[in-house]
Amino acid sequence: MLARRSLVCNLAGPLPHPALALLSDFRLMVNRGIREAIEQGLTAQGSLTKYSQGLARELRVNGVHSRTPMDTALSLDAGHRRRLRKGARSRVPYVRSPFLVADDSTFHLNPDTGHLRLSLRNSEWAGLDLRQSDWHRSVLADRRIKQLRLNANRAVLVLELDTPEPYTPQAILALDTNERSLDGVLLEPDATTPLVVPYPDVATIQHRHFARRRRLGRKKAHDRRVGRKLLGREGRREHRRIVQRLHLLTKMLVAQANSRGAALSLEDLHLPRGGGHGRRMRRRLSSWPQRELHRQLEYKAEEQGVPVLKVNPRNTSKTCPRFGEIKERRSRVGRVFVCASCGWRCDRQLNAGLNICQIVLREAPKGPSNSGLGGLWLSPDALPKDAMKLLYSPGHAGAHGRSGRERRIEVAPRDGGGF
Ligand SMILES: [Zn+2]
Repeated sequence: MLARRSLVCNLAGPLPHPALALLSDFRLMVNRGIREAIEQGLTAQGSLTKYSQGLARELRVNGVHSRTPMDTALSLDAGHRRRLRKGARSRVPYVRSPFLVADDSTFHLNPDTGHLRLSLRNSEWAGLDLRQSDWHRSVLADRRIKQLRLNANRAVLVLELDTPEPYTPQAILALDTNERSLDGVLLEPDATTPLVVPYPDVATIQHRHFARRRRLGRKKAHDRRVGRKLLGREGRREHRRIVQRLHLLTKMLVAQANSRGAALSLEDLHLPRGGGHGRRMRRRLSSWPQRELHRQLEYKAEEQGVPVLKVNPRNTSKTCPRFGEIKERRSRVGRVFVCASCGWRCDRQLNAGLNICQIVLREAPKGPSNSGLGGLWLSPDALPKDAMKLLYSPGHAGAHGRSGRERRIEVAPRDGGGF
Protein backbone atom coordinates (compact mmCIF):
# COMPACT_ATOMS: atom_id res chain seq x y z
CA MET A 1 0.00 0.00 0.00
CA LEU A 2 1.13 3.51 -0.67
CA ALA A 3 1.28 6.19 1.97
CA ARG A 4 2.45 9.78 2.01
CA ARG A 5 4.79 11.39 4.50
CA SER A 6 6.13 14.87 4.70
CA LEU A 7 9.72 15.75 5.43
CA VAL A 8 10.53 19.26 6.62
CA CYS A 9 13.80 20.81 5.43
CA ASN A 10 15.27 24.15 6.36
CA LEU A 11 16.71 26.33 3.64
CA ALA A 12 20.48 26.72 3.67
CA GLY A 13 20.16 30.35 2.63
CA PRO A 14 17.58 32.93 1.59
CA LEU A 15 15.58 32.10 -1.52
CA PRO A 16 16.94 33.59 -4.76
CA HIS A 17 14.87 36.45 -6.15
CA PRO A 18 13.40 34.66 -9.17
CA ALA A 19 12.12 31.90 -6.88
CA LEU A 20 10.56 34.46 -4.54
CA ALA A 21 8.83 36.04 -7.52
CA LEU A 22 7.38 32.66 -8.46
CA LEU A 23 6.08 32.22 -4.89
CA SER A 24 4.32 35.59 -5.14
CA ASP A 25 2.82 34.70 -8.51
CA PHE A 26 1.65 31.39 -7.08
CA ARG A 27 -0.07 33.13 -4.21
CA LEU A 28 -1.77 35.46 -6.69
CA MET A 29 -2.95 32.51 -8.78
CA VAL A 30 -4.41 30.81 -5.70
CA ASN A 31 -6.28 33.94 -4.64
CA ARG A 32 -7.60 34.58 -8.17
CA GLY A 33 -8.61 30.91 -8.40
CA ILE A 34 -10.56 31.19 -5.13
CA ARG A 35 -12.51 34.21 -6.47
CA GLU A 36 -13.16 32.60 -9.83
CA ALA A 37 -14.43 29.36 -8.27
CA ILE A 38 -16.78 31.23 -5.95
CA GLU A 39 -18.10 33.54 -8.68
CA GLN A 40 -18.69 30.69 -11.13
CA GLY A 41 -19.84 28.22 -8.47
CA LEU A 42 -17.16 25.70 -9.44
CA THR A 43 -16.24 22.88 -7.08
CA ALA A 44 -14.95 19.99 -9.18
CA GLN A 45 -11.25 19.27 -9.59
CA GLY A 46 -10.12 20.35 -13.01
CA SER A 47 -12.97 22.81 -13.44
CA LEU A 48 -10.51 25.69 -13.32
CA THR A 49 -8.03 24.25 -15.82
CA LYS A 50 -8.81 26.65 -18.65
CA TYR A 51 -8.85 29.62 -16.34
CA SER A 52 -5.53 28.70 -14.78
CA GLN A 53 -3.82 28.17 -18.12
CA GLY A 54 -4.85 31.66 -19.16
CA LEU A 55 -3.65 33.01 -15.85
CA ALA A 56 -0.27 31.27 -16.22
CA ARG A 57 0.19 32.80 -19.66
CA GLU A 58 -0.74 36.22 -18.31
CA LEU A 59 1.77 35.95 -15.43
CA ARG A 60 4.37 34.21 -17.61
CA VAL A 61 4.54 31.28 -15.18
CA ASN A 62 5.46 27.82 -16.44
CA GLY A 63 2.27 26.01 -17.45
CA VAL A 64 3.20 23.04 -15.26
CA HIS A 65 2.73 25.32 -12.24
CA SER A 66 -0.86 26.08 -13.23
CA ARG A 67 -2.62 22.97 -11.85
CA THR A 68 -1.51 22.94 -8.20
CA PRO A 69 -2.64 26.51 -7.37
CA MET A 70 -6.14 25.63 -8.56
CA ASP A 71 -6.19 22.44 -6.48
CA THR A 72 -5.17 24.54 -3.49
CA ALA A 73 -7.82 27.17 -4.28
CA LEU A 74 -10.57 24.57 -4.61
CA SER A 75 -9.67 22.87 -1.35
CA LEU A 76 -9.58 26.21 0.51
CA ASP A 77 -13.00 26.98 -0.99
CA ALA A 78 -14.29 23.59 0.09
CA GLY A 79 -13.27 24.33 3.68
CA HIS A 80 -15.01 27.71 3.48
CA ARG A 81 -18.24 26.15 2.20
CA ARG A 82 -18.08 23.41 4.84
CA ARG A 83 -17.77 25.99 7.63
CA LEU A 84 -20.71 27.97 6.25
CA ARG A 85 -22.81 24.81 5.97
CA LYS A 86 -22.15 24.06 9.62
CA GLY A 87 -23.21 27.57 10.52
CA ALA A 88 -19.71 28.57 11.62
CA ARG A 89 -18.28 31.98 10.84
CA SER A 90 -16.11 32.01 7.76
CA ARG A 91 -14.68 34.58 5.39
CA VAL A 92 -13.74 34.01 1.78
CA PRO A 93 -10.24 32.50 2.00
CA TYR A 94 -7.35 34.76 1.15
CA VAL A 95 -3.72 33.67 1.18
CA ARG A 96 -1.37 36.29 2.59
CA SER A 97 2.10 34.86 2.44
CA PRO A 98 3.81 33.72 -0.76
CA PHE A 99 4.15 29.98 -1.16
CA LEU A 100 4.41 27.28 -3.77
CA VAL A 101 3.14 23.73 -4.24
CA ALA A 102 5.09 22.07 -7.04
CA ASP A 103 4.60 18.70 -8.71
CA ASP A 104 7.53 16.33 -9.01
CA SER A 105 7.88 17.08 -12.71
CA THR A 106 8.89 20.68 -11.99
CA PHE A 107 11.88 20.17 -9.71
CA HIS A 108 14.81 17.90 -9.08
CA LEU A 109 16.56 17.33 -5.76
CA ASN A 110 20.01 15.90 -5.32
CA PRO A 111 19.64 14.12 -1.96
CA ASP A 112 23.40 14.03 -1.34
CA THR A 113 24.07 17.75 -1.67
CA GLY A 114 20.58 19.05 -0.93
CA HIS A 115 20.69 21.11 -4.11
CA LEU A 116 17.24 21.63 -5.61
CA ARG A 117 16.57 22.82 -9.14
CA LEU A 118 13.15 24.38 -9.59
CA SER A 119 11.56 25.21 -12.92
CA LEU A 120 10.31 28.81 -12.99
CA ARG A 121 9.31 29.64 -16.53
CA ASN A 122 10.11 28.13 -19.88
CA SER A 123 13.78 27.13 -19.84
CA GLU A 124 14.33 29.21 -16.73
CA TRP A 125 15.43 27.47 -13.52
CA ALA A 126 16.28 28.54 -10.00
CA GLY A 127 18.69 26.70 -7.73
CA LEU A 128 18.25 26.56 -3.98
CA ASP A 129 19.89 24.55 -1.24
CA LEU A 130 18.15 22.56 1.48
CA ARG A 131 19.91 21.72 4.70
CA GLN A 132 20.19 17.92 4.78
CA SER A 133 21.14 15.93 7.85
CA ASP A 134 22.09 12.26 7.79
CA TRP A 135 18.58 11.57 8.95
CA HIS A 136 17.10 13.44 5.97
CA ARG A 137 19.33 11.46 3.63
CA SER A 138 18.32 8.15 5.19
CA VAL A 139 14.63 9.00 4.84
CA LEU A 140 15.07 10.11 1.24
CA ALA A 141 17.18 7.12 0.26
CA ASP A 142 14.46 4.70 -0.79
CA ARG A 143 11.49 6.99 -1.28
CA ARG A 144 10.04 8.90 -4.15
CA ILE A 145 9.46 12.62 -3.82
CA LYS A 146 5.98 13.48 -5.07
CA GLN A 147 5.61 17.12 -4.22
CA LEU A 148 7.46 20.16 -2.96
CA ARG A 149 5.83 22.75 -0.71
CA LEU A 150 7.91 25.85 -0.38
CA ASN A 151 7.64 29.14 1.42
CA ALA A 152 10.22 31.81 2.16
CA ASN A 153 11.49 29.98 5.26
CA ARG A 154 11.37 26.29 4.60
CA ALA A 155 10.63 23.45 2.25
CA VAL A 156 8.43 20.44 2.85
CA LEU A 157 8.98 17.36 0.70
CA VAL A 158 5.98 15.09 0.29
CA LEU A 159 7.22 11.51 -0.05
CA GLU A 160 5.53 8.38 -1.20
CA LEU A 161 6.39 5.10 0.46
CA ASP A 162 5.34 1.50 0.44
CA THR A 163 3.77 0.22 3.64
CA PRO A 164 3.11 -3.42 4.48
CA GLU A 165 -0.43 -4.83 4.57
CA PRO A 166 -1.65 -4.70 8.20
CA TYR A 167 -1.25 -8.11 9.85
CA THR A 168 -4.08 -10.17 11.34
CA PRO A 169 -4.15 -9.18 15.02
CA GLN A 170 -3.81 -11.90 17.66
CA ALA A 171 -4.21 -9.49 20.57
CA ILE A 172 -5.57 -6.05 21.40
CA LEU A 173 -3.70 -3.14 22.94
CA ALA A 174 -6.58 -0.85 23.93
CA LEU A 175 -5.69 2.54 25.37
CA ASP A 176 -7.66 5.54 26.55
CA THR A 177 -5.84 8.85 26.07
CA ASN A 178 -5.65 11.17 29.05
CA GLU A 179 -3.82 14.34 29.91
CA ARG A 180 -0.88 12.62 31.60
CA SER A 181 -1.11 8.99 30.59
CA LEU A 182 -2.56 6.37 28.31
CA ASP A 183 -4.53 3.80 30.29
CA GLY A 184 -6.00 0.52 29.24
CA VAL A 185 -5.36 -3.13 28.77
CA LEU A 186 -3.31 -5.57 26.75
CA LEU A 187 -5.59 -8.46 25.90
CA GLU A 188 -3.81 -11.60 24.71
CA PRO A 189 -5.22 -15.11 24.23
CA ASP A 190 -3.70 -16.32 27.51
CA ALA A 191 -3.30 -13.15 29.54
CA THR A 192 -5.00 -9.85 30.34
CA THR A 193 -2.71 -7.09 31.57
CA PRO A 194 -3.95 -3.71 32.81
CA LEU A 195 -1.59 -0.98 31.67
CA VAL A 196 -0.57 2.59 32.43
CA VAL A 197 1.66 4.40 30.01
CA PRO A 198 2.56 7.68 31.72
CA TYR A 199 3.77 10.77 29.96
CA PRO A 200 3.57 13.33 32.75
CA ASP A 201 6.25 15.62 31.37
CA VAL A 202 4.08 16.71 28.45
CA ALA A 203 1.43 18.26 30.70
CA THR A 204 4.18 19.72 32.88
CA ILE A 205 5.77 21.41 29.88
CA GLN A 206 2.37 22.73 28.84
CA HIS A 207 1.68 24.19 32.26
CA ARG A 208 5.10 25.75 32.50
CA HIS A 209 4.89 27.35 29.08
CA PHE A 210 1.35 28.52 29.73
CA ALA A 211 2.51 30.42 32.81
CA ARG A 212 5.55 31.77 31.00
CA ARG A 213 3.49 32.96 28.06
CA ARG A 214 1.11 34.80 30.32
CA ARG A 215 3.98 36.48 32.15
CA LEU A 216 5.56 37.43 28.83
CA GLY A 217 2.26 38.77 27.52
CA ARG A 218 1.90 41.04 30.56
CA LYS A 219 5.47 42.22 30.42
CA LYS A 220 5.33 43.12 26.74
CA ALA A 221 1.79 44.51 26.79
CA HIS A 222 3.10 47.92 25.75
CA ASP A 223 4.74 46.59 22.59
CA ARG A 224 2.56 44.22 20.65
CA ARG A 225 5.04 43.57 17.88
CA VAL A 226 7.81 42.40 20.21
CA GLY A 227 5.28 40.60 22.39
CA ARG A 228 3.94 38.63 19.47
CA LYS A 229 7.39 37.68 18.31
CA LEU A 230 8.49 36.46 21.72
CA LEU A 231 5.24 34.58 22.25
CA GLY A 232 5.64 32.91 18.88
CA ARG A 233 9.12 31.80 19.84
CA GLU A 234 7.87 30.43 23.15
CA GLY A 235 5.10 28.54 21.38
CA ARG A 236 7.48 26.94 18.89
CA ARG A 237 9.87 25.90 21.64
CA GLU A 238 7.05 24.29 23.61
CA HIS A 239 5.84 22.55 20.47
CA ARG A 240 9.24 21.04 19.70
CA ARG A 241 9.80 19.84 23.26
CA ILE A 242 6.45 18.09 23.40
CA VAL A 243 6.74 16.53 19.95
CA GLN A 244 10.17 15.12 20.82
CA ARG A 245 8.83 13.38 23.94
CA LEU A 246 5.81 12.03 22.13
CA HIS A 247 8.06 10.51 19.45
CA LEU A 248 9.91 8.43 22.07
CA LEU A 249 6.61 7.25 23.52
CA THR A 250 4.87 6.39 20.25
CA LYS A 251 7.89 4.57 18.85
CA MET A 252 7.95 2.33 21.93
CA LEU A 253 4.18 1.71 21.88
CA VAL A 254 4.04 0.73 18.23
CA ALA A 255 7.04 -1.58 18.69
CA GLN A 256 5.30 -3.22 21.67
CA ALA A 257 2.10 -3.76 19.69
CA ASN A 258 4.09 -5.09 16.75
CA SER A 259 6.10 -7.57 18.82
CA ARG A 260 2.90 -9.05 20.29
CA GLY A 261 0.95 -9.08 17.04
CA ALA A 262 -1.59 -6.79 18.64
CA ALA A 263 -4.02 -4.35 17.08
CA LEU A 264 -3.78 -0.88 18.55
CA SER A 265 -7.15 0.50 19.56
CA LEU A 266 -7.71 4.10 20.51
CA GLU A 267 -10.62 6.42 20.93
CA ASP A 268 -11.43 8.60 17.93
CA LEU A 269 -10.56 12.06 19.18
CA HIS A 270 -12.42 13.70 16.31
CA LEU A 271 -15.75 12.48 17.64
CA PRO A 272 -17.38 14.08 20.66
CA ARG A 273 -17.17 12.12 23.86
CA GLY A 274 -20.83 12.63 24.70
CA GLY A 275 -22.37 14.61 27.55
CA GLY A 276 -22.10 18.04 25.94
CA HIS A 277 -18.48 18.68 25.21
CA GLY A 278 -17.39 16.11 27.70
CA ARG A 279 -15.81 16.80 31.02
CA ARG A 280 -12.48 15.69 29.70
CA MET A 281 -12.47 17.71 26.51
CA ARG A 282 -13.18 20.91 28.38
CA ARG A 283 -9.85 20.95 30.10
CA ARG A 284 -7.90 24.11 30.52
CA LEU A 285 -5.17 23.22 28.09
CA SER A 286 -5.69 22.32 24.49
CA SER A 287 -6.08 18.72 23.45
CA TRP A 288 -3.43 19.18 20.80
CA PRO A 289 -0.83 16.86 22.44
CA GLN A 290 -3.37 14.03 22.47
CA ARG A 291 -4.12 14.50 18.80
CA GLU A 292 -0.44 14.72 17.96
CA LEU A 293 0.09 11.52 19.96
CA HIS A 294 -2.56 9.74 17.92
CA ARG A 295 -1.22 11.14 14.66
CA GLN A 296 2.24 9.73 15.45
CA LEU A 297 0.84 6.39 16.59
CA GLU A 298 -1.21 6.05 13.42
CA TYR A 299 1.50 6.81 10.92
CA LYS A 300 4.12 4.70 12.72
CA ALA A 301 1.66 1.83 12.98
CA GLU A 302 0.92 2.13 9.27
CA GLU A 303 4.62 1.96 8.42
CA GLN A 304 5.02 -1.25 10.42
CA GLY A 305 1.76 -2.90 9.40
CA VAL A 306 0.21 -2.65 12.86
CA PRO A 307 -3.59 -2.47 12.50
CA VAL A 308 -5.24 0.49 14.22
CA LEU A 309 -8.88 0.29 15.29
CA LYS A 310 -10.56 3.57 16.19
CA VAL A 311 -13.48 3.53 18.55
CA ASN A 312 -16.27 6.03 19.15
CA PRO A 313 -15.43 7.39 22.61
CA ARG A 314 -19.05 8.12 23.49
CA ASN A 315 -19.74 7.09 27.09
CA THR A 316 -16.53 5.12 27.48
CA SER A 317 -15.89 6.92 30.76
CA LYS A 318 -19.29 6.15 32.29
CA THR A 319 -19.99 2.64 31.11
CA CYS A 320 -19.58 -0.45 33.22
CA PRO A 321 -17.28 -2.85 31.35
CA ARG A 322 -18.86 -5.90 32.94
CA PHE A 323 -22.31 -5.79 31.41
CA GLY A 324 -22.06 -2.64 29.32
CA GLU A 325 -24.68 -0.61 31.16
CA ILE A 326 -24.25 3.14 31.26
CA LYS A 327 -24.66 3.63 34.95
CA GLU A 328 -22.57 5.46 37.40
CA ARG A 329 -23.18 6.52 40.95
CA ARG A 330 -24.26 10.13 41.22
CA SER A 331 -21.12 11.32 42.95
CA ARG A 332 -18.75 11.58 40.04
CA VAL A 333 -15.84 12.75 42.11
CA GLY A 334 -12.53 11.08 42.65
CA ARG A 335 -10.49 8.82 40.49
CA VAL A 336 -12.62 5.72 40.93
CA PHE A 337 -15.53 4.61 38.78
CA VAL A 338 -18.31 2.81 40.65
CA CYS A 339 -21.11 1.06 38.80
CA ALA A 340 -24.55 1.88 40.23
CA SER A 341 -26.10 -1.46 39.33
CA CYS A 342 -23.42 -4.07 40.01
CA GLY A 343 -20.95 -2.22 42.20
CA TRP A 344 -17.95 -2.69 39.91
CA ARG A 345 -15.12 -0.44 41.08
CA CYS A 346 -12.15 0.56 38.98
CA ASP A 347 -9.74 3.39 38.33
CA ARG A 348 -11.68 5.80 36.14
CA GLN A 349 -9.10 6.09 33.36
CA LEU A 350 -8.43 2.36 33.27
CA ASN A 351 -12.17 1.79 33.13
CA ALA A 352 -12.41 3.85 29.92
CA GLY A 353 -9.60 1.76 28.42
CA LEU A 354 -11.46 -1.46 29.29
CA ASN A 355 -14.54 -0.10 27.55
CA ILE A 356 -12.53 0.70 24.43
CA CYS A 357 -11.37 -2.91 24.41
CA GLN A 358 -14.94 -4.19 24.84
CA ILE A 359 -16.15 -2.02 21.97
CA VAL A 360 -13.44 -3.40 19.69
CA LEU A 361 -14.37 -6.98 20.62
CA ARG A 362 -18.03 -6.23 19.99
CA GLU A 363 -17.76 -4.18 16.84
CA ALA A 364 -14.60 -5.20 14.99
CA PRO A 365 -15.62 -6.57 11.61
CA LYS A 366 -15.56 -10.35 11.80
CA GLY A 367 -13.78 -10.72 8.49
CA PRO A 368 -10.72 -12.81 7.83
CA SER A 369 -8.49 -9.81 8.53
CA ASN A 370 -9.61 -9.76 12.18
CA SER A 371 -10.14 -13.48 12.63
CA GLY A 372 -7.49 -13.58 15.35
CA LEU A 373 -9.76 -11.52 17.60
CA GLY A 374 -12.39 -14.28 17.59
CA GLY A 375 -10.73 -16.17 20.44
CA LEU A 376 -10.31 -13.15 22.69
CA TRP A 377 -12.51 -12.47 25.66
CA LEU A 378 -12.20 -9.66 28.19
CA SER A 379 -13.53 -10.43 31.64
CA PRO A 380 -13.06 -7.43 33.93
CA ASP A 381 -13.46 -9.66 36.99
CA ALA A 382 -10.38 -11.64 36.02
CA LEU A 383 -8.18 -8.55 36.10
CA PRO A 384 -5.49 -8.65 38.75
CA LYS A 385 -6.60 -6.10 41.33
CA ASP A 386 -4.32 -3.13 41.96
CA ALA A 387 -1.57 -4.57 39.81
CA MET A 388 -1.28 -2.10 37.00
CA LYS A 389 1.73 -2.65 34.89
CA LEU A 390 3.87 0.27 33.84
CA LEU A 391 4.62 -0.20 30.21
CA TYR A 392 6.93 2.74 29.96
CA SER A 393 8.94 4.91 32.24
CA PRO A 394 10.30 8.02 30.56
CA GLY A 395 13.96 7.05 30.01
CA HIS A 396 16.01 7.94 33.06
CA ALA A 397 19.43 8.56 31.57
CA GLY A 398 18.23 10.73 28.70
CA ALA A 399 15.51 12.51 30.58
CA HIS A 400 17.81 13.49 33.39
CA GLY A 401 20.33 15.31 31.27
CA ARG A 402 17.59 17.04 29.37
CA SER A 403 15.77 18.32 32.41
CA GLY A 404 19.06 19.74 33.62
CA ARG A 405 19.33 21.75 30.45
CA GLU A 406 15.78 22.93 30.73
CA ARG A 407 16.36 24.17 34.22
CA ARG A 408 19.28 26.21 32.98
CA ILE A 409 17.09 27.88 30.40
CA GLU A 410 14.56 28.51 33.12
CA VAL A 411 17.00 30.18 35.49
CA ALA A 412 18.68 32.37 32.92
CA PRO A 413 15.98 33.56 30.53
CA ARG A 414 17.34 35.05 27.34
CA ASP A 415 16.88 38.78 27.08
CA GLY A 416 15.50 38.57 23.56
CA GLY A 417 18.85 39.72 22.10
CA GLY A 418 18.01 41.39 18.84
CA PHE A 419 15.28 43.73 19.98
ZN1 LIG B 1 -21.94 -2.82 36.27
